Amino acid sequence: MKAKKKRIIVRMCVHCRVRFAQNELYRLQYIQQSPIAQKKIMLYSGQGRSFYLCCECVSHRKVAHSLCRVCKVDKKGKDDMDKNLKEAICQQQK
Ligand SMILES: [Zn+2]
Repeated sequence: MKAKKKRIIVRMCVHCRVRFAQNELYRLQYIQQSPIAQKKIMLYSGQGRSFYLCCECVSHRKVAHSLCRVCKVDKKGKDDMDKNLKEAICQQQK
């Protein structure tokens, strides 16, 4: 007998490196250049490379370090990364 299995897509949080079901994670991307703004983190728009953060890590104090690493941004930019991330998450929660 065939068991009915729902396929769960599992992705890894870039900060804590724990694997979660995709729907439990924030899917984000880093835009190098866009018409409205340059270089920012935003919710995944469906194009380009994306990365994932879990619900706990989005508010973690040191998450910007991981973001800089993932997005290949100099550590000097981490305050901006942190701010961008918070903005992106706010959009998601609306
Ligand atoms: Zn995490």
